Amino acid sequence: MKIKMAAVFLFASWFLLVSSHASGQNLPPTFKKVKEGIFVYAGRPGESNCTIILTQEGVVLIDSGNNPPDSVAVQKAVKQLTPQPVRFLINTEPHNDHTTGHFVFSPPAVIIAAAGASESMRGANTPARIQKLMADHSNMGDALKDFRVITPHIEYKDKMTLNLGERTFELSYLKNVHSEADTAIWLPKEKVLFTAASIGVKRFNNLRPFVSIPDTLSAIKMMKALNPEVVIPGHGVPGSAKILDDMEKYYNVLMERVGAMVKAGKSLDEIKKELKIPGTEDWEGKDRFPNNIEAAYRAIKGS
Ligand SMILES: [Zn+2]
Repeated sequence: MKIKMAAVFLFASWFLLVSSHASGQNLPPTFKKVKEGIFVYAGRPGESNCTIILTQEGVVLIDSGNNPPDSVAVQKAVKQLTPQPVRFLINTEPHNDHTTGHFVFSPPAVIIAAAGASESMRGANTPARIQKLMADHSNMGDALKDFRVITPHIEYKDKMTLNLGERTFELSYLKNVHSEADTAIWLPKEKVLFTAASIGVKRFNNLRPFVSIPDTLSAIKMMKALNPEVVIPGHGVPGSAKILDDMEKYYNVLMERVGAMVKAGKSLDEIKKELKIPGTEDWEGKDRFPNNIEAAYRAIKGS
């Protein structure tokens, strides 16, 4: 009887320990629990999001943090949450503010990204950039001594499904929305969507010359059709599908207004001087508004 009681007690304490760990109660306030076992880390406002997803078979990370100190904070949180390793790291995009911290998790993590990500990362990580990174984070001491650029082990085209434990991750390549290799990630059972940097939250995105607003609008349409409960953008506070609605509305109004001005015979420079979009007064990244106008102009002129 005594042995049985002791076993029950041991099991109960083990269960409490494991469940209080996995609930994330002790994590710093920089971590936001969005669903059971899903924790989003955001550093300073505007910096990239990094998400920890616990499964019965180990951890999946979405991106690896804005900078190495963020990656180290995420690694510490993973250890608080579970004794299991980070098995997979999925990239929403290849830019440095989502990928520099890969060395903290891999090995053992296997890194997955859309085709073209490795090439993009190799191109961005010049010796000068790496030297600057070391200088910027010299106070990290030993934590940075193992730094190396780790490019994705798996690159997929168009679509890919990853099954781990009880969770499913559906990856979709998003064309011409932000970088050379953007991935939306959908967890169908949890109804959680990672949009990559295809959309922002009260934020003008940097629309590079190859970015297409019509392609971005089709990506938003595809993502809205999933009917997500939780939307986690590449940057900005996670929320509901309203994040997708707001961005869709902005791009539609931008296209309409630029279209009307082109029709009225205005030049690109005149449009840049005159155009204002109501409701975006408090948005971040105003310096990117001119390149948003250029993207709309390109789409309308068909060039
Ligand atoms: Zn980016």
